[in-house]
Amino acid sequence: MKNGGSEYEALSTAMLSHSPACQNDDRFTADALRPQEVREMRDTCRACPLIVHCRSYANAIPRGVAFAGFWGGQFYGKELP
Ligand code: SF4
Repeated sequence: MKNGGSEYEALSTAMLSHSPACQNDDRFTADALRPQEVREMRDTCRACPLIVHCRSYANAIPRGVAFAGFWGGQFYGKELP
């Protein structure tokens, strides 16, 4: 069963040499966002050198009620009208 351990380790290691733009932006851990925010954040992720590691981690962790936020250019929360 995948739990994202090795993917998390790879992402953490990559973050040692690059601080992502999302790091102090609370929108990236939000449960709900407006469409304009989603578009802006997707653009931020597209410019991020960590996107491959970030997306791999997001794809590796089990989906549950607590899984939300923005990972590797993909929003896993609720898009507001
Ligand atoms: S790709 Fe991941 S680490 Fe990079 S800005 Fe987006 S959410 Fe943050």
